[in-house]
Amino acid sequence: GEVFDQIPRGASADVDRAVRAARAALAGPWGRMTAAERGRILHRMSQLILADAENLAQLEARDTGKPIGQARNDIAVAARYCEFYAGAADKLHGQEIPYLADFQVVVVREPYGVTAHILPWNYPAQMFGRSVVPALATGNAAVLKPSEDACQSPLAFCRIAQAAGLPAGALNVVTGLGEEAGDALTHHRDIDFVTFTGSPEVGTIVQKAAAERTLKCVLELGGKSPHLVFDDADPDRAATFIIKAITQNAGQTCSAGSRLLVQKSIYDRFVAQIAERFKATMAGSPAMDKDCGPLINAAQKQRVEGFIQRAKASGIPVLAQGKVADGVPAGGYYVAPTLFGNVPRNHELACDEVFGPVLAAIPFDDEADAIALANATDYGLIAAVWTRDGGRQTRVARAMKCGQVYINCYGAGGGVELPFGGVKRSGHGREKGFMALEEFCTVKTMVQYHGQ
Ligand code: NAD
Repeated sequence: GEVFDQIPRGASADVDRAVRAARAALAGPWGRMTAAERGRILHRMSQLILADAENLAQLEARDTGKPIGQARNDIAVAARYCEFYAGAADKLHGQEIPYLADFQVVVVREPYGVTAHILPWNYPAQMFGRSVVPALATGNAAVLKPSEDACQSPLAFCRIAQAAGLPAGALNVVTGLGEEAGDALTHHRDIDFVTFTGSPEVGTIVQKAAAERTLKCVLELGGKSPHLVFDDADPDRAATFIIKAITQNAGQTCSAGSRLLVQKSIYDRFVAQIAERFKATMAGSPAMDKDCGPLINAAQKQRVEGFIQRAKASGIPVLAQGKVADGVPAGGYYVAPTLFGNVPRNHELACDEVFGPVLAAIPFDDEADAIALANATDYGLIAAVWTRDGGRQTRVARAMKCGQVYINCYGAGGGVELPFGGVKRSGHGREKGFMALEEFCTVKTMVQYHGQ
């Protein structure tokens, strides 16, 4: 609730300068660099991030409110993105296709050109790594509009990129409001590609802007990701992951595990176990390093509390609530982790993304019912299947309509190496892993007649 820094409110003229700088970079040394040279710059970036990791983590924690331990992890992951794409930059190959006699056909991969990146506030450092770094690895010139609520680490990474030898114009950051700088960027006439991570509502606006010029658009939107807990699951292991999957980043994670679907035969026992652990969770300031920090801003706190109040008002039982630590700054945007039981299947808590530390437990009958229930929301980002039955693991995992499935584990968003993205209202396109490099390239088929 206190001001600690100021950032420029970029306008469309600033966006225009950034896009021009990116276009000029493509015509200059950046556009002529080899993949190996780009990889070396990214590798230097990873080293510089690691060398300054503690300062960057403190900055990230202060900017977003997340516990310092989670911020340290986020900075390490950002460095890992640079490292991964540094190594991958010169491993992305084209193809040679056998064709007619006296013909040679090759398929080459080329960068799109100027890529626009619009990012949310929940993981600014990781988002930079996952969106901007593969675009640079493939030789695009990037223009980034980070969230107005969290842009300190992307700005710091920009300075690091410069120190690592990234040529001027290859990476540009314009801070500012979504409806000003963001809108100006998505409508700019000289961008070639748009990638957006954020809410489905704004994602739709961005896709429409891209569609006006038939630009490629990658959207990473929200989720309502389920845990499917069957009666033969290892309850202790499942409980540990389930708690973390909804308290991490105070539930402000697109891949938060926000629905707890439990087989009826074990529902009471298992949900009671989760409730016990939930009571022990705590929200605290970044330095206290508890399970979660405050929410990002007053509006988000109000939104999450609105979900909690409406659920209570409709008679849905609160099975457990964590605590807010003593001594947190007054006026901070804290919300205690909250577990609701027997949530009706059509209630907003079972269908809509809360983006806060609120978990909705729902019983199911059998495998078919679990699958139908898991797939019943508009979203499809990730899911987790908890069972010891090998056949069921595969059957259920394959039946999930989403972009990632975990079996007896859960990684919100998964590792740097793992392709990530959604189906349905969770978006389209894939980030992370090697696949992100393919997303940021277009392919050109070259057909040559070489006969006499
Ligand atoms: P948001 O959609 O409000 O904002 C995201 C970004 O879009 C910000 O940078 C914002 O300034 C910009 N923006 C807003 N209006 C714009 C416009 N008219 N034109 C262009 N840009 C505009 O989302 P948020 O509140 O920052 O983040 C929360 C949401 O993001 C949640 O719904 C969450 O699920 C989602 N999210 C998804 C993922 C994922 O990978 N799937 C990751 C993180 C967050």
